[in-house]
Amino acid sequence: MRQIDASITGSRDLQTFMYTLDPGGPCRSQWDVLGGLERMGFRVNKHRRRLTGIDDVIEYHAEWQRKRHELEHEIDGIVVKVDRFDQQLELGFVARSPRWAIAFKYAPEQAETVVEEIACYVGRTGVLTPVAHVKPVIVGGVTVRNVTMHNEAQVNEKGVYVSARVVIHRAGDVIPEIVSVKEPKQGWRMPATCPVCGGEVVREEPYIAHRCINPFCGAQRLERLRHFASRGAMNIDGLGYATINQLIERKWVEDPSDLYRLTKEQVVQLEGFADKSAQKLLARLADSKGPSLGRFLYALGIPQVGEATADLLAVEFGSIDKLRSATEEQIDAVESVGASMAHEVRRYFEGHGGELVGRLLDAGVHPQVTEAPGEGPFTGKTFVFTGTMEAMGRPDAEALVRKMGGKAASSVSAKTDYVVAGPGAGSKLEKAQKLKLNILDEQQFLELIGE
Ligand SMILES: [Zn+2]
Repeated sequence: MRQIDASITGSRDLQTFMYTLDPGGPCRSQWDVLGGLERMGFRVNKHRRRLTGIDDVIEYHAEWQRKRHELEHEIDGIVVKVDRFDQQLELGFVARSPRWAIAFKYAPEQAETVVEEIACYVGRTGVLTPVAHVKPVIVGGVTVRNVTMHNEAQVNEKGVYVSARVVIHRAGDVIPEIVSVKEPKQGWRMPATCPVCGGEVVREEPYIAHRCINPFCGAQRLERLRHFASRGAMNIDGLGYATINQLIERKWVEDPSDLYRLTKEQVVQLEGFADKSAQKLLARLADSKGPSLGRFLYALGIPQVGEATADLLAVEFGSIDKLRSATEEQIDAVESVGASMAHEVRRYFEGHGGELVGRLLDAGVHPQVTEAPGEGPFTGKTFVFTGTMEAMGRPDAEALVRKMGGKAASSVSAKTDYVVAGPGAGSKLEKAQKLKLNILDEQQFLELIGE
């Protein structure tokens, strides 16, 4: 703003609020002045307020501390003035500072400190998150010791390293972040092994997250077990987070194969279970021992393998043994499986994943052999079933489609040829409508297959 040439200042897009008028004309108070300025067309702060006691002032100060980020401009505090001019005159000045006006500043929202360590935490899904432990510093009124960063790329974009001098920003309830580094340096790397289980850490292409892929990782136990039991996977009803948590706490279940060794004596001890419900859960577990190969593969939680891919792999390889012994090239050759996914699948079975499959087979889980698609009227066609079917079960309908040469996938995409929707169809049907796919009800499907 302070330019010798005033036209430079004039060229800048500056805005200001007006606060004083000198001489004040007929005005007898600060409040009068602000009203007068506004009537004359000047920009006056609309958040001004005339208060009558110190309690109101304290409340106003607290109010704008909370709401300061709702303003279009930054503020660092509020100014409180005695309103009446005659009282201002009586109070006078100390040196150049008026006794009748004072600024109350808010706590600074930025502070400088030093990074002491960069640790990695493993989330429930295996994703590693770097956290900078800093020398404790007060920012925005609270002591900050840890600053979470998103991933390796972000650490290096900012140039954070151990012993770096950094500026931390923390505003309101927003979590603190590192906004700048004094002498930024690149080159920080995620550990190659998981800090919780020592398992292999991979960078998931095309994502920038690093993930521990060990299916036995302690940090991921809960999520992996929940995924295993979920509807699209082994579909073990009644095995929610609360129950799984108890099983983990009692150290009865570490990996999914342990579920099949649970006894009724154990289950009745769990909160929320009695004789009958324990019996029921064990029956459901027993029922889940013969899943389709697609569901089984999905339940394993192989990186990048969702329901649709699991189904494709199941159709292509037919049995778990064939898939387990397939080469990366053979997996890569499957339609819509890319090189990086093939690599992940291969690596999964070579590592601890293969061990988990072995344990599940030993525990009596036997994924059904999937019939290879025959040649027939549906060759090259992909079906997705959603909602309930009445004349035949969904697995039977899917098997029929395969027998007639088609594919049964579990998720809708632009490549889907037919969506068969029964009562209760939800998001898959909506997506099919959006993509303007062929949508059949059960009757139309039966006609199509000639029943
Ligand atoms: Zn791990």
